[in-house]
Amino acid sequence: MATLRVAVRVRPFNKRNSSNLKDGGKTFSYDFSYDSTDEGRPTFISQERIFHDLGSDVLKAAFEGFNTCLFAYGQTGSGKSYTMMGHTDDKGLIPRICEGLFCEISRRGKSEAVSFRTEVSYLEIYNERVQDLLKKKTTPTDGGLRVREHPRDGPYVEDLSKLLVHNHSDMEDLIILGNANRTTASTAMNDISSRSHAIFTISFTRAWFDAELPRETLSKIHLVDLAGSERADATLSTGTRLKEGANINKSLVSLGTVISALADLSVGGQSTKKKKQTFIPYRDSVLTWLLKDSLGGNSLTTMIATISPADVNYGETLSTLRYASRAKNIVNSPTVNED
Ligand code: ADP
Ligand code: MG
Repeated sequence: MATLRVAVRVRPFNKRNSSNLKDGGKTFSYDFSYDSTDEGRPTFISQERIFHDLGSDVLKAAFEGFNTCLFAYGQTGSGKSYTMMGHTDDKGLIPRICEGLFCEISRRGKSEAVSFRTEVSYLEIYNERVQDLLKKKTTPTDGGLRVREHPRDGPYVEDLSKLLVHNHSDMEDLIILGNANRTTASTAMNDISSRSHAIFTISFTRAWFDAELPRETLSKIHLVDLAGSERADATLSTGTRLKEGANINKSLVSLGTVISALADLSVGGQSTKKKKQTFIPYRDSVLTWLLKDSLGGNSLTTMIATISPADVNYGETLSTLRYASRAKNIVNSPTVNED
């Protein structure tokens, strides 16, 4: 059985940071751990390496008909957006996965009798409201789109743009449009990007004939840049930022609850004693509802926990490491989506 994979990535120091902890240290174990504290050192982990380890499996799975999900979790400033999107000259997972997808499509298109269809959606969840990032004009004050659930295909957002993409250059244009919309919203309302979740979704269909019968697999790739985890749970936070209840992010709190419930379920399910019957409250928030199939469901899912190396962030870092460690107990069992 496949588990939910968990990776931890430490970002570099910035000029203001120091590391002076006298703490004896704690040990956690994950599937991958990456140290990017020093660009000069041979241990420095590049964006390319992250893609190689975590992104290339997403592509492989898509061509085999599995759903995948990669999500970045961590406090504001720890490197979530850098890891998922990166910069123009130092690309992160989303642009690399898109590039890899079209490379593979053209490679296979030459040698195999198959056809591919790629569609993209890009949304933002702010204050439990869904905004379409691929519409020309989005403002944070728009009413927001509704989440619904299809009996077979699962949760989806009503009226969300799902755009057909023919090549890598079209894909790049959509990423630029979506990111620009995200930034505009962020400037219009102070601090939105650290409080909002962005979900970039690729729906990928592979169609071919098998003994003259049409066959098709559909894979969804969810690439998620979460809101800053310092808003996850006011009781866990030691800082002053979270004194006001208004800052608590419902979707992040629900994500924690769902991860805990799934971890309990997986541990209970593996034991020979009585199986726990745990209710998983996916529908409590927009984020957990939309990611229902990726969390504890039919998906190869990877959580990338991003942390800061600085001593001032010790509390948040420890909380992120514990959260990531909890997620490691979840057991997912992906199956091929074939029609
Ligand atoms: P977040 O999205 O978690 O709030 P960002 O991704 O915006 O954080 O990262 C904050 C800053 O740190 C950015 O300037 C980013 O380029 C830089 N940064 C984060 N992680 C890394 C890394 N692994 N290597 C190099 N720079 C990084
Ligand atoms: Mg960010």
